[in-house]
Amino acid sequence: MNRKPLFLDRDGVLNKDVAPYVTRLDQLEIFPWTGPTLRRLYEAGFDLYVISNQQGVALGLTSPEVLNNVTEAIQATVRPHGFEIKKFFYCTAHDGEEHPWRKPNPGMILAAAEEFGFDPTGAFMIGDWWKDMAAARGAKCRPLLVLSGVCKGEEYRAWDVQPEAVFPTLVEAAEYVLKDEGGRMKDERRRMSAEG
Ligand SMILES: [Mg+2]
Repeated sequence: MNRKPLFLDRDGVLNKDVAPYVTRLDQLEIFPWTGPTLRRLYEAGFDLYVISNQQGVALGLTSPEVLNNVTEAIQATVRPHGFEIKKFFYCTAHDGEEHPWRKPNPGMILAAAEEFGFDPTGAFMIGDWWKDMAAARGAKCRPLLVLSGVCKGEEYRAWDVQPEAVFPTLVEAAEYVLKDEGGRMKDERRRMSAEG
């Protein structure tokens, strides 16, 4: 199967957003739907990449060990479903550094594309904040907003960069992705049979 990339923000998408940062493992609350939903995406042919700003590391609030432990805890949630998230990209730089990886910059998506050898154009990026939408657009991806994190309502309408679509949680966003993929596959089959 020709696998496709799908990008996911972490906090507010896979787990409950904790203000200002997840600084201890016992603060991590992975949403109950994360494992089963990611499995559906994985089984539909998507390779999953986490694209996450973690400025808390630069600020000394989150230790690199906690960051690794959170990564491992999320992998441990999906592993029983028979797969893993392909890679977690974290930007641990301070906001003031203007690091190319730090969202709203698209650097982490572009780094994933470079490392794994794919074109990110048209891939989905699911996030809960305007920086996710902007990073997605910057990499020519399709931004989907979920309201399970920082943005809980209509305030996104004031953002400069608008999502393609808005959903309560990852569950409904995944439905949209799977429907889109189903339609694309049908078109592809139609095209191939038309070409004989
Ligand atoms: Mg987030």
